[in-house]
Amino acid sequence: MLSAMRQHELTVCPACGELGRPNTLDHYLPKRLYPQFCVTPANLFPMCDACQLAKGEKVGDARTPRFFIHPYFDAFVAEQVLRLEIHAPFDAPTFTLGLVEGLGPSKARLVRSHMRELEIEKRYAGFFRNQHRRLLRLVDAMRVAGQDVQQTLTTFKHGATEPSLNTWEHVFYAAAIDNPDLIDYLTNAQLPQYL
Ligand SMILES: [Zn+2]
Repeated sequence: MLSAMRQHELTVCPACGELGRPNTLDHYLPKRLYPQFCVTPANLFPMCDACQLAKGEKVGDARTPRFFIHPYFDAFVAEQVLRLEIHAPFDAPTFTLGLVEGLGPSKARLVRSHMRELEIEKRYAGFFRNQHRRLLRLVDAMRVAGQDVQQTLTTFKHGATEPSLNTWEHVFYAAAIDNPDLIDYLTNAQLPQYL
């Protein structure tokens, strides 16, 4: 059974949303602390190395009994739960990663502790900087080709909905599309020369 679980076809880490095949089979409840659940299928799921390293044997603490989202039981993460904001200046933006509105207090608390304990914001930062530079280059090419920037970016966002709405790429394009100032910049402003 374990080898069957390792032969999954995931192309994204279910814990953090980074694209790539997650290599490790993580014990949601660590096997040293909960040996009775070490082969229970619901206690095992694939995870990327960075998440596994950050998670270690953490489970929760007195204030937050459960730190981590469980990909089988916390079905609400099928919807987008992370929300990125891209702040001007758009030639060298800053980023804030938070939660979508309307999650409700208990889900919001769980997503926040999950992000904090897996160091997700820190790990996202480099990806978003690169993705933004790539976006400026793409927009430059779109303008040359006479393509509508907003429409093309909407297509990119839709293309990034698989395999999950919480992949880093989808969260990024959703942030771009939802930011009228950025869309205005991308459509009309002079782009930096160093692309
Ligand atoms: Zn991960």
